[in-house]
Formats: sequence, structure tokens, C-alpha cells
Amino acid sequence: MVNSKELFAEAQTLLPGGVSSPVRAIKPYPFYVKSAKGAFITTVEGTQLIDCCLGYGPLILGHAHPVIKAAITSQLENGWLFGTPTELEIDLAKRVTADHPSIDMLRFVSTGAEATMAAIRLARGFTGKSDIVKVEGGFHGAHDAVLIAAGSGATTHGTPDSAGVLPDFAAHTRQVAFNDPEGLEELLSKNDNIAAFIIEPVMGNIGPILPDDGYLAAVREITAAHDVLLIFDEVITGYRLGIGGAQVKYGIKPDLTTLGKITGGGLPIGLFGGRREIMEMISPAGPVYNAGTFNGNPLTMAAGIAMNKYLHQHPEIYPKFDERTRIIEESIPSSSPGTFVRLGSMFKYFCRPEAPRNYTEAKECDTVLYRKLWEKALSGGLFMPPSQFETNFLSSAHGDGEMVKLSEVYAQ
Ligand SMILES: *Cc1c(COP(=O)(O)O)cnc(C)c1O
Repeated sequence: MVNSKELFAEAQTLLPGGVSSPVRAIKPYPFYVKSAKGAFITTVEGTQLIDCCLGYGPLILGHAHPVIKAAITSQLENGWLFGTPTELEIDLAKRVTADHPSIDMLRFVSTGAEATMAAIRLARGFTGKSDIVKVEGGFHGAHDAVLIAAGSGATTHGTPDSAGVLPDFAAHTRQVAFNDPEGLEELLSKNDNIAAFIIEPVMGNIGPILPDDGYLAAVREITAAHDVLLIFDEVITGYRLGIGGAQVKYGIKPDLTTLGKITGGGLPIGLFGGRREIMEMISPAGPVYNAGTFNGNPLTMAAGIAMNKYLHQHPEIYPKFDERTRIIEESIPSSSPGTFVRLGSMFKYFCRPEAPRNYTEAKECDTVLYRKLWEKALSGGLFMPPSQFETNFLSSAHGDGEMVKLSEVYAQ
């Protein structure tokens, strides 16, 4: 019988580190998955785990949801790649623009990383300015401009600055701390060559780290005053915090938005969108180049449309998430050494006496303790992201039974 240990040994001879993405390289070896359905993932050994990683965010309806599956299956019958436009792109674009008051037009790409890469290029092309500002610990995908003090796998492995990123290029990316409007004001007032400020409105890749009251409004005001484009990276928060993501929840209108993850119903997707005058700079309408073989992929479009329809038809899932993560919070004993942070279906136990407000504070977490708790949870049948610095998620498939189990794990 196949087992995870042997599969990983073989994978290491073929795939660097044995994996296709670094966060998956769980020590001593990751479990290999045979199948997944609803809230559960089943390993090749036949172990069933409650999944609170959910593909690192996209699967808000759980695994293999029948509605998404039906949409993909029906599109399969008609073919899955045409290299020419389809009605499906118009349909999903209409939905996404309607859901986000800040988005008049958008471009579909295949991943969140491509979306932020293109949005940054667009901001430079539109403003004619060269530098960007990001948040320390903010993660925007694995590309050169943003692999600087990045969260997610980059933090886990202690290599925020990747080898191969040219120092000359990295010098065009500046950093500020999250929840520090004064720091942003100071930076922008000293530099007149900043094209954009890119930020996860709720930090999801070292978090969740929540914005202080008024922080996002201050960020909007400061960037506008300095003619700096505000890019909300809502690849995690889009459709996760509700329809319209963080920008609708907090009532802020960014200039550009990047989306991904949930928007594609669990198939690979990214998109960036914003004000018409900015988006019309994108090729072939304008001079900022973007292209991709799989942009607007029909299967992804079909899955994304099905996801979008479902979320609109079931608005009750969002308040339900809030109730459910409160149940987990309430199960944690008051003597616990850490802090539980939650926002809707995003949650995390931080091994630190207070909730972190930025990257520096997040790094103070006791990662050794976290690892112990994570292992205990896994042996108790719960799969969470292995890093202290990745958000846990719930899906609408996590029912009462799973909540009881989750509460038991957290009560320990
Ligand atoms: C996941 C993520 C990305 C990268 O998306 P990929 O599809 O993995 O390239 C970008 N930004 C944020 C906030 C993310 O969480």
C-alpha cells in the first residue's frame, strides 16, 4: 500500500524539497491526500481529517461542493480552452464589478501573484512613478517586487528576501508597519516617487491581523493626499469577509483591487481591477502589457460564476461563520497562554499573550509551542496550516459535529 512517507521520499528526488509550494513541506513528511469532500480531507493511509486549511483559502464551501462540481462538469462537455473570448468572462466580470464599488473594469489572470504583479506594473505605468510601498509581513505572491519581508511561506522559512531578487530592484519596494498611519505619512511625505501602496486590508498571511479602528480610512486619506494609488490585495479577504470583501466591510474605496482564491471557485484564478481610467491603460486598450494563455480560463470562469451565484443565494453563511468561530473562541480556557483572533471565518490561535498588531509583534509568537499544539491537533484529527503565520479557515461545510470536535481540540 502507498504511504505518505515513501511518496515524500520519491517526491524529493523529483521536486525540490519534495513539494510544489514550500508551505506544503511539513516535517518530517507531509501527508498525501487521496480525496476530499465537504469539511474532510482523506489521506492515502485512509485517515480522515477536518480541514481548516482549505487549500489556503479558496474553498469557502468546502471540498468538492456539488454546485461547483456541476458547473465544472457541464463546462467540460463544451471544452476547456479556446484562446478566444467567451461569454463566461463577461458573466463573471459583471458579477465581480457589481460586488465591488471600486471596480469598474478588470482583467482575469491565473493566480493571485500574477494579479499583484500586474497591478503594480499598472500603477507604475499609470502614475509614471517607480517605487512601491508594501506592509512588513504582507504577502502578495511569489514575485520579485513583493518578496521583501513577505509573510506566508517566506516567513515560515526565514527567508523573506529570496536569493535571485536583484538588490537594485528590491530597492524600489519600501516597507511600513501595519497599523502605523504615521509611518506611512512620513514615508510618503519624504518621497515623491511612490506609485502605489499595496496592502492586505486584513493581514492573512501572518494573521489574521486586524486593522485598528480608522486605520484603513487613514491609509485611504494619506495615499490620496500624496497621489499614491491604493491597492487592496483582497486575494484572501475577497468573498471571505463577505460579498465585496474588506473594502465593503470597512467602507473604503481603493484605486485598484486584486482578487483570487475564492473568486475562482477553487480553480486557479487571479484578477485585478479598479477605476476605468486606470484599467484602460491595460493592453490592448493601453500601453501596460498583460497577457496569459490561461487568462479567463473557461473552467475557472464556470466555477467562479457558480461560486458567486451560490454566495449571493446564501448570504446567511457569513453571520453563521461569525457564530461558529465564536464557539471556538469560547472553548478556549482562560488560563491559555495565547490569544485567539477571529474575523468571520478567518481565525488563529497566536502563541503570544496579546493579539499581534503588526509583523514585529507576530514574530514574537512562540513557534515551538505552536508546533506542539499543531501536532496535537493533527493527531486529534484536525488539519490546520502548519505555520503559526497562516490563517485558519472555516467553510460552510463545517457542520455542528465538526464544531464540537474543533472546540474539543481548542479546549485542550
Ligand atoms: C495567496 C495570496 C496571494 C498569491 O496568490 P497565488 O494564487 O498563490 O499566486 C497574493 N496575495 C494574498 C493576500 C494571498 O493571500
